[in-house]
Amino acid sequence: MKKIVIANLKMNQNIDESKTYFTKMVANFNGDKCDLIICPPYTSLSIAKFITQNSSIRLGAQNVCDEEFGAYTGEISAQMLKKAGADYVILGHSDRRNKFKESDKLINKKIKTSLKNGLKCILCVGESLADKNTGKTYDVIRKQLEEDLRGLYENELESVIIAYEPIWAIGTGNNASVKDIENSAKLIRKVIFDNFSEKASRDIQVIYGGSLNQKNYQALLYCTGIDGGLFGACSLDPKVFLEILNSVK
Ligand code: PEP
Repeated sequence: MKKIVIANLKMNQNIDESKTYFTKMVANFNGDKCDLIICPPYTSLSIAKFITQNSSIRLGAQNVCDEEFGAYTGEISAQMLKKAGADYVILGHSDRRNKFKESDKLINKKIKTSLKNGLKCILCVGESLADKNTGKTYDVIRKQLEEDLRGLYENELESVIIAYEPIWAIGTGNNASVKDIENSAKLIRKVIFDNFSEKASRDIQVIYGGSLNQKNYQALLYCTGIDGGLFGACSLDPKVFLEILNSVK
């Protein structure tokens, strides 16, 4: 199976910058190496769709409204994202959980709305440094997964990728160790086993994110139980990112 690589561009790139970025990505990405999903800001989705239309690059959004339409000023619906070119949406990112106070209940609703409208979900879970230091990693991840995935049918998990993203590793330069990642992947699969089935726990796609870079990706993307990686800062420079993408096996 090819590795899944996801780029979270966060609140970076205006349309002109995205035009340059996606043009370079399409010209230089070797689609045989990995499955690539790039998540630009909403405003760049349409131009990114146009530029990537004949490539294997897939697009994702970084958020979605939990409601489908109506008087929700400033929000964007799942159907709008789909029409703009997104096949995926990142949900439960710690930026949204912490800075925008998104609860597991809201994330659960966003997942259901996304799946209903044909968007696949990249669900981020992970513990804070305080949780890690007090031995709460297991409880935190279990609670997030159980609440975020509550009420889903097992077959819907085929459209969900779980990203283990410890908060202390995101944007800090302190990546998790192979041992941390393998333990968390095992735990994620155990929660899926307990709440769905043995098959689901085997089949669910689990990736790692948090300060991935040129120096550590070789070790971290190949941890046992890990199907790929979610890159933030490192994905912003096409030259650096392409070097990684084109050497993933
Ligand atoms: C992220 O924000 O999801 C992320 C993985 O960021 P970084 O790679 O910069 O730590």
